[in-house]
Amino acid sequence: MKLNSLHDLFVHELRDIYDAERQLVKALRKMAKAASADDLRNAFEEHLAQTEGQINRLESVFEEFDLKPKGRTCEAMKGMVEEGKTVMDSAADEATGDAGLIAAAQKVEHYEIASYGCLATWARQLGNDNAARLLRETLAEEKNADAKLNALAEGRINAEAGPTAEPAKEMRTQGDGRSEHNGHHRAGEEENKRAGEMTEARSDMAPI
Ligand code: FE
Ligand code: FE
Ligand code: FE
Ligand code: ZN
Repeated sequence: MKLNSLHDLFVHELRDIYDAERQLVKALRKMAKAASADDLRNAFEEHLAQTEGQINRLESVFEEFDLKPKGRTCEAMKGMVEEGKTVMDSAADEATGDAGLIAAAQKVEHYEIASYGCLATWARQLGNDNAARLLRETLAEEKNADAKLNALAEGRINAEAGPTAEPAKEMRTQGDGRSEHNGHHRAGEEENKRAGEMTEARSDMAPI
């Protein structure tokens, strides 16, 4: 189908995220089961419940545009779920598995944040404020989920996974952040900085 307008693009992306969220319901169930830390499992279960609400919200958005809810395979979500599985299957211990689960989940959240940011802006530009409001509600939930995952990773889980297959305490005593052993933690910090930049860039481009 040729996309001839912002409206066409909106519908295309709406169908994409509708499919993505439905894939996620299944994935989050598996991720909750795979998580070994209680707080991480709770976070996944909580976001699973939220995701079910987000699917309902998307159905309301379809209605707002007089459309029947319909998905269109989100290849990106398929790929992210697949990559997440590979990391999980390769993790040799529970803490490393949990750190990998968080990374996989954050990639998903960032994808969703980009999608809902665009959709909310487009809905407003298309003159549908109700749809824009619904999409912004979900956008806020996705940002919140991402922040929670950050807190879990930086609060404890990355440190438990340890920088190498050695006791994790070694990493905590290395404060300069430059040593090789701190690679994992540093990478996390840099990713967070970039995430902040991305969110800022997003809101510059498309204030919602
Ligand atoms: Fe979602
Ligand atoms: Fe997609
Ligand atoms: Fe990749
Ligand atoms: Zn999400």
